[in-house]
Amino acid sequence: MRIGVLAVQGDFPEHQRAIARADPRAEVVPVRSPAELEQVDRLFLPGGESTAIAGLLQRNGLTEPLRRRLSEGLPTLATCAGLILLARRLSPGAGGPDPPTLGALDVTVRRNDYGGQRESFEAPVRVAGLATAPFPGVFIRAPRIVEVGRRAQAMAWLGNEVVGVRQGNVWGLTFHPELSTDARLIAAFLASVPASAQKTRNKATTMTRRTRPTATAAK
Ligand code: GLN
Repeated sequence: MRIGVLAVQGDFPEHQRAIARADPRAEVVPVRSPAELEQVDRLFLPGGESTAIAGLLQRNGLTEPLRRRLSEGLPTLATCAGLILLARRLSPGAGGPDPPTLGALDVTVRRNDYGGQRESFEAPVRVAGLATAPFPGVFIRAPRIVEVGRRAQAMAWLGNEVVGVRQGNVWGLTFHPELSTDARLIAAFLASVPASAQKTRNKATTMTRRTRPTATAAK
């Protein structure tokens, strides 16, 4: 499995290190061009400055190829600025002019809604599937998910507030799993079975079930 990290701006080196911690055998490659994007089986969109990342995606000819790979179901984990870029809607916030977004996650997001750098904070987050203990959430000039649309599903909460969503194979978080030493969330994403593979598996199971009574009858 080749894991790509979008490496045009932001904290992509931290992502590369965190992925290696979560799975020491993973092949982690930077993605800066459409050719590199074509070759990955999983993608991380790091935190950073969403307006800068959006501009660099455009300049590197990555915007449309990324939109296409997302629509084809490329498993993607987007953090903070990455989540902003995948949102369907942005609600004007304190982050200056908003960037254009790719719309892969049916959420409305408001940039910098917890305040600026000085209001960055750490707090325990409850994550679906990580039952043993809360996850240490690192929030840096974080966006707020102000609305979860019908197609997205909440998967992480800070108190009652949704701070992570998923839609098919695409996960979006307002906090930074790569900046904590807890590798569970990135490991869970790497281990998640892409929705298309899931469908094939279910089909195989159904076929096995159907053939079983016939085989029994033939005995
Ligand atoms: N505030 C940044 C933005 O609006 C996101 C911050 C982050 O990725 N940590 O793009």
